[in-house]
Amino acid sequence: MKNILVTGGLGFIGSETVVCLIEEGYTPIIIDNLYNSKKAVLPRIKEITGVLPKFYENDVTDEDALRKIFKENKIDGVIHFAGYKAVGESVQKPLEYYSNNLISTLKLVKVMKEFGVKNLIFSSSATVYGLPKRVPVTEEDELNEATNPYGETKFMIERILGDISKADPSFNVALLRYFNPIGGHPSGLLGEDPNGIPNNLLPYISQVAIGKLDHLNIFGDDYDTPDGTGVRDYIHVVDLASGHVATLKKLETNPGLVIYNLGTGKGTSVLEMVKAYEKANNVKIPYEIKPRRAGDIAANYANVDKAKRELGWVAKYDIVQACLDAYNFQKKNPDGIK
Ligand code: NAD
Ligand code: UDP
Repeated sequence: MKNILVTGGLGFIGSETVVCLIEEGYTPIIIDNLYNSKKAVLPRIKEITGVLPKFYENDVTDEDALRKIFKENKIDGVIHFAGYKAVGESVQKPLEYYSNNLISTLKLVKVMKEFGVKNLIFSSSATVYGLPKRVPVTEEDELNEATNPYGETKFMIERILGDISKADPSFNVALLRYFNPIGGHPSGLLGEDPNGIPNNLLPYISQVAIGKLDHLNIFGDDYDTPDGTGVRDYIHVVDLASGHVATLKKLETNPGLVIYNLGTGKGTSVLEMVKAYEKANNVKIPYEIKPRRAGDIAANYANVDKAKRELGWVAKYDIVQACLDAYNFQKKNPDGIK
């Protein structure tokens, strides 16, 4: 495999993966409609890698635009990052979430089939485990009901792609269940750049660190966890990116449908993360304890044995490195990527 179509390739995880693909000798081709990213990411990718990837400013739900891309490039595999991802917003705008996330995937697979492209990596999420019965979760654990439309789209797309692969075993699909991606490129050129007030923990902490936000609100300190705050598996985005390259290599063996957790295997509480960030960057993160956030669970972290065994992949960076890189990105881009 050489030419990899990357949908959503200018976003947080997509751009980092594009860098990793170039460094590993692949040729990424990006399609992104700039819904949640900036065109300025493209020259930054060039600054890091020396390569300006081919970019199509199109919507993945646009079948004709997809056909044009597949006609103009001999695509060997696809990594499908494009989608809407804000949990809270998905409760307010379910129609938009179901439409964008489902239709983009259906059109993409349709056009892949038309062009005989048989390798697909899909960005799934730990959210498909819902409220897990035990942690760490393995890929074989049961999937539980999602608490929001965003999670439902991931669950539904996993099902759809599973059925497609079952009907045509020569169609290789990897469902990658990401845990909590954080950090950014060590250069400070790429990172998480949310619109408005961040929903996720790390970008929120980073904005407190540079004084853009006054304090962090910690959502609940009465969970059944060692210090009462929520526990998650935070994975450095550069590790997540390399997990995609390892998965492409796996798809070359024609495995049919494969599913992997991409995490570190370690749980970190909100308070531990605040302390790690303060120590790594020598900053103060004031916080207030607030009531639990609706839909949150106490703890979720990954069993990562399967990815290690079958992909030869493990996360290399710890949360300290991720805190350094997140702060570096925030300092260099106080108002986001311009
Ligand atoms: P992101 O919003 O930064 O990137 C998604 C990109 O897709 C954006 O650049 C956006 O402009 C583009 N896009 C959205 N809809 C599109 C469409 N119809 N056509 C073309 N482009 C479109 O998000 P991210 O954090 O990089 O996440 C990438 C994927 O990983 C998403 O599918 C997300 O659901 C999944 N995921 C993310 C996390 C996380 O915490 N960041 C966790 C688990 C799974
Ligand atoms: N969290 C918090 N304050 C915030 C954002 C998040 O206390 O401003 C907590 C949240 O309750 C959860 C953890 O941080 O325990 C990770 O939340 P995030 O939204 O980043 O990821 P997810 O909930 O999707 O795993």
